[in-house]
Amino acid sequence: MCLCLLNRCGNMDFDVHGRLDFADPEVIRAEQTRLLNEHVAYCRARSPFYRRVLRDRPDRPVTIETLAELPLTGKADLAEFNDSFVALPPEEIADISFTSGTTGHPCRIFYSANDLRRLGYNDAKGFIAAGIRPGDRVLLTCTIDRCFIAGLAYYSGVIQMGATAIRNGLNTLESHAEIMRLTRPGAIVGVPSFLAKLGEYLAETGYDTSSVHTLVCIGEPLRTRDLRLTPLGQKLDRHFPGAAHSTYASSEIVTSFTECSACAGGHPPADLAVVEIVDPDGHPLPPGKVGEVVVTPLRVTGMPLIRFRTGDVSFLIPEERCSCGRNTRRLGPILGRKAQMLKIRGTTLFPNSFFAVLDSLEDVSDYYMEVSGSALSDEVRVFASVRNQDCTAQYISEQLYKRIRIHVPVEIIPIEQARAKISRQSRKPVRFFDLRTP
Ligand SMILES: [Zn+2]
Repeated sequence: MCLCLLNRCGNMDFDVHGRLDFADPEVIRAEQTRLLNEHVAYCRARSPFYRRVLRDRPDRPVTIETLAELPLTGKADLAEFNDSFVALPPEEIADISFTSGTTGHPCRIFYSANDLRRLGYNDAKGFIAAGIRPGDRVLLTCTIDRCFIAGLAYYSGVIQMGATAIRNGLNTLESHAEIMRLTRPGAIVGVPSFLAKLGEYLAETGYDTSSVHTLVCIGEPLRTRDLRLTPLGQKLDRHFPGAAHSTYASSEIVTSFTECSACAGGHPPADLAVVEIVDPDGHPLPPGKVGEVVVTPLRVTGMPLIRFRTGDVSFLIPEERCSCGRNTRRLGPILGRKAQMLKIRGTTLFPNSFFAVLDSLEDVSDYYMEVSGSALSDEVRVFASVRNQDCTAQYISEQLYKRIRIHVPVEIIPIEQARAKISRQSRKPVRFFDLRTP
């Protein structure tokens, strides 16, 4: 192995306008294989965790197919052996962020300066794919601090692609509307349920949203299994026609997947990640099949991971070539969290199925759901606040049954109670509360 690989903490080449994503699938495959081998060699040499895990495995070349022979890494590994995932000395760690981890204890994620540039490069490419152009003004409605790495990545991405960032962060509708009047942004990055409220507010106050050509939506899916807009996606589309693009990322995988103009799955840059979908036993599934998203991020130096189980459930888009011209594998919408999978009287469902019905009911102003129960069957309960007293608990329950064929008890609660519960824990709304005993 060459020495420059072991010392690759400095100036890695990230070309925002690189053509690899548009190359033939065979060319992409060859480059990914080369980067994958570099990555595994780096993990063996630098990461105490992988040095131990891979010690008894033969050190031979890896291909995209034989990658599945290497062990998976889970969130529990990351929590238990947190320090031994760090592959660089302290003076080369530039940032520490946190994820919630499996046991509720925050898990530390370490980034090198190069990893931070890599994050910006990833989002710059994602933004370009979504339709943002150099010179565009981009309103950022998410926080850049609070140890939230994605906010920093979006900011860095805007800068790296030659657009202009407007960091208004987690602010009120009034503040964003005022900033928009002063700056006329062409694009907005934020949580879709908040952007839908912003769209509604802008419409009420007479702001012409036609100048907003791109929304980059984080944290909540916009599309269903068959790639149609969810009710939340439709709501956004009414206020910002044709603008909404979804992006998916997590702190651990240091990679984001952003929808291009085709709006049919998110592209990761070809030189940054190898993506797999696996069944409950960890075996790879073919494109089109639903399973857990597993990511091997390439070119990460601070805390490199091999075959990381994200806990999110989705599928790969079967067609290799995309109508936008990119030939990178696309990840479909996130259908739910594996840990949030519900088993109700023999039917498997995710909370998103309930959310889609509740979002489509005009008179439901907000809601959350709780699940309790045992290993045999889960019990779901929906709590909703309503704009109109005619929208009764029985009516909501009937609508849920009509669409997902499950009888669910519904309780009507005051809007203040719903909002307090939903926004108590996190920067994005939490509408699913799991009270199940493991
Ligand atoms: Zn595309």
